[in-house]
Amino acid sequence: MTMLAPYACHPALSRGRRYPEPAAPTRSDFQRDRDRIVHSTAFRRLVYKTQVFLNHEGDLFRTRLTHSLEVAQLGRSIARALHLNEDLVEAIALAHDLGHTPFGHAGQDALNACLKQHNPDSAGFEHNLQSLRVVDSLEERYPAYDGLNLTFETREGILKHCSRRNARHIEAREPGGVALRFLEPSAAADAAGPRLQPSLEAQLANLADEIAYNAHDIDDGVRSGLLSLAQLQDVELFSQYQRETLLAHPGLQGRRLLFETIRRMLSAQVYNVIDATHAALHQAAPGSADAVRRHAPLVCFTPEMALQSSALKRFLFQNLYRHPQVVDTTQTAQQVVRELFAAYMADPAQMPQAHISRFDGLDVSHSPSAKPERVVADYIAGMTDRFAAKEHERLYGRVAFAV
Ligand code: MG
Repeated sequence: MTMLAPYACHPALSRGRRYPEPAAPTRSDFQRDRDRIVHSTAFRRLVYKTQVFLNHEGDLFRTRLTHSLEVAQLGRSIARALHLNEDLVEAIALAHDLGHTPFGHAGQDALNACLKQHNPDSAGFEHNLQSLRVVDSLEERYPAYDGLNLTFETREGILKHCSRRNARHIEAREPGGVALRFLEPSAAADAAGPRLQPSLEAQLANLADEIAYNAHDIDDGVRSGLLSLAQLQDVELFSQYQRETLLAHPGLQGRRLLFETIRRMLSAQVYNVIDATHAALHQAAPGSADAVRRHAPLVCFTPEMALQSSALKRFLFQNLYRHPQVVDTTQTAQQVVRELFAAYMADPAQMPQAHISRFDGLDVSHSPSAKPERVVADYIAGMTDRFAAKEHERLYGRVAFAV
C-alpha cells in the first residue's frame, strides 16, 4: 500500500470494534475486516443473488458477487491514486450488498411492503441497514459475539442510507455511532442542511458502485438482447467513447466494439473521479478523516461527468430496468417473496429451528426484540434466488420460475 494521505482513514486511528480485540500480528484492522467479510456465509450467497437479471437467466450476467468484486476493483484503483485506504474501500465494497434480498430490488420492495402491510408501524426493509444487520448480528461465526465485529469505519461505509426512524434505533444502542450522521446536521449547516458525511473511503465505495453498475448493466443489457448498440447512441457517455473506439479501430464491431467502448468509458470515469476529487481535496484541505466527515461530500465527478452519468442512469432505468421482460420477472419475483412471507408467518415451523429460536427476543442489534415478522424477513432476505424459488415450490407446490 502507498502512503496514506492525512485525510485517509488510518487503521491506527480507527474508532475500533464493538467488542475490543487485540490487534492482529501482520494485518491492519481494515484488512482483517475485509478477510472476515470474504469468509462470511452472506458473502458466498452473493454468487446466487440477482443484480439485474435473475441468477438462472444466464451464467454470464453479473450477480451480486461479481458486481461487488467490480466495485472493489474500481474503488481500490481510485483509492490508491488518491492515497486513501485501499483495504477499507475494499472491505466496504465487498460488504455493501450483503443485505440484498433474493431477486434484487424487486425482492426488497416486496419484503418492505410485506412488513408494512403486516404492521403499518413497521420500520420496513432497507437493504443498507440489512447489510449492517448481517455483519453486526446475523452472521454466526464467533464464540463470543454475534456478527463479524467489524470496525466502525467499515460499518459506517456499509450504512450508506438509513431512515431517521431506524437511525434513532441504532443511535439508542450505539450512541455517537454509525447512525449519528443521519440524525445530526453538520456543524456548518442548519437543521435542514446536509448531514455529516462518512469517510472518503465510504464516499468512494459509493461512487464506485454507481460506476460499476452503469457500465456492467450496459454489457448485461446488450448481452441479454434487451438493449442494442443503436439505442445506446442516445447516451452521450457511451456514444462518445464508441466514436473514439471506432476512430482508433475502424470497422470494429460486435462484442469487441462494446467491450472497448465500455473499457474507455470506465477509464474516463475513474480518471475523472481521481482528478475532480483531487481538486476538491486540495481546496478543502481536510487535515484528518474527521475533518472530512464535517465537510460536504468530497469524492466526486466533475459537474459535466456527473450530468452524463445521470443521463446514463436514466437511460438504463427507462430502457432496461423498466423493460417489459424485466418487469415481468420482477412481478413474479415479488409474488414469490410475498407468498414466502405469508407462508412463514402462518406457520413458522416451516423455517429451520435456528431461525424460529430467534423469536425469543435474541436480536441484539437494531430492534428491541426479534418480532416474528423481522425473523421471517431476515430469513427471506438471506436466501439466494434459487433457494427462494425452491422453498416457494416446496410450500406452494407450483413452479414460479423454471430454475
Ligand atoms: Mg451495489
